[in-house]
Amino acid sequence: MTAPVRTHPRHPALAAADPRLAALVAAEEQLQADTLRLIPSENYVSAAVLEASGTVLQNKYSEGYPGKRYYEGQQIIDQVEALAAERATSLFRMDHANVQPYSGSPANLAVYLAFLKPGDTVLGMSLPMGGHLTHGWGVSATGTWFRGVQYGVRRDTGRVDLDEVRDLARAERPRLIFCGGTAVPRTVDFAGFAEIAREVGAVLVADVAHIAGLIAGGAHPSPAPYADVVSTTTHKTLRGPRGAMLLSRAEHARAIDRAVFPGLQGGPHNQTTAAIAVALGEAAGPDFRAYAHQVVTNARTLGEELASRGFDLVSGGTDNHLLLIDLTSRGVPGKTAAKALDRAGIVVNHNTVPYDPRKPFDPSGIRIGTPALTSRGVPASEMAAVAQWITQAVEAARTGDEPAIAKVRAEVKELMDGYPAPGLPVG
Ligand SMILES: *Cc1c(COP(=O)(O)O)cnc(C)c1O
Repeated sequence: MTAPVRTHPRHPALAAADPRLAALVAAEEQLQADTLRLIPSENYVSAAVLEASGTVLQNKYSEGYPGKRYYEGQQIIDQVEALAAERATSLFRMDHANVQPYSGSPANLAVYLAFLKPGDTVLGMSLPMGGHLTHGWGVSATGTWFRGVQYGVRRDTGRVDLDEVRDLARAERPRLIFCGGTAVPRTVDFAGFAEIAREVGAVLVADVAHIAGLIAGGAHPSPAPYADVVSTTTHKTLRGPRGAMLLSRAEHARAIDRAVFPGLQGGPHNQTTAAIAVALGEAAGPDFRAYAHQVVTNARTLGEELASRGFDLVSGGTDNHLLLIDLTSRGVPGKTAAKALDRAGIVVNHNTVPYDPRKPFDPSGIRIGTPALTSRGVPASEMAAVAQWITQAVEAARTGDEPAIAKVRAEVKELMDGYPAPGLPVG
């Protein structure tokens, strides 16, 4: 499909040593440059984050923690990890940060290891209602090694019902309660969850993987005053490298650290730790605050534009970066729509909607979000155009109108050309 590149402007050594792989990287750069990426868990990292994640820190083994390593030669790595942890605790206002989890799923598994024995009960949001696999869903290790009890959202509001959560917590007595999720378009009521957790003696984990960047930028309330543990990926709205962090109150620091290492992992990925530190430094700045608020403004505006074109939004809209769209009334299944949108240069994922009558692999909805387009500087005034393209592509999916899809793709590319992405080569 793509001709091998003999040179790559930013990766000359890679292009010389492995032209085939370099060509794939170049093709992916082109794809990310040309398309309107609306996957709410994706983003564009800065050139600085990208550089930090490709450094010689890659070459080190560092089992243990700063000052308590199992390998010598950690003079510099200790400083890198301490810097990342310090920036994390200061940005999220928690006592302790562990920046070693390889990604969000292992971070969550470490939380189970820190607080639960196999068979103990965990209360989390059900996957088809917007929760994450690792919140005790059946096919996940967290739902087979532990007893998962699940809350959902109300059919009439599309929102979490804390009365349901409280009733479940009182009846099931979970040791761990997860709040947050992957397809939750509304503000998480950390205070409400904390009250329930306190009443039943459970540890409250706020899984803010999706909204960490909004929290850091002041565009979503902070879980810090309420949660015992905050779990987050670093690569979604936070706009760092692929990785994760566990933040906690001081009393849980030791349990969390022991669970991550030696409980679950070996050596940390130091190049990722460095890139997390860079991302956290960026997230503490004024530009990031503006970005976080713009993500929300763009999502709200896009939601209004879609609703005015007759789209059915779960919960009626959004408070954050994410929209969940039920396509039942459009006569197109989620997957068919997502594939047509992809051909139109608009990248989304198919998603279950609450009480979805269709199967999870071919559900009724799509999930879209505004972090990546906001990182490119696309303003709210373009959301009407975005909504119009989504409308046209979904309609074209229903009627099989491929020329209409090709027309949208050309228009999308024209918009994207006007907003170069951070971290990608220009032109
Ligand atoms: C993305 C996500 C995770 C898992 O992150 P991975 O890095 O994909 O393992 C966990 N919890 C929530 C709520 C997420 O959105």
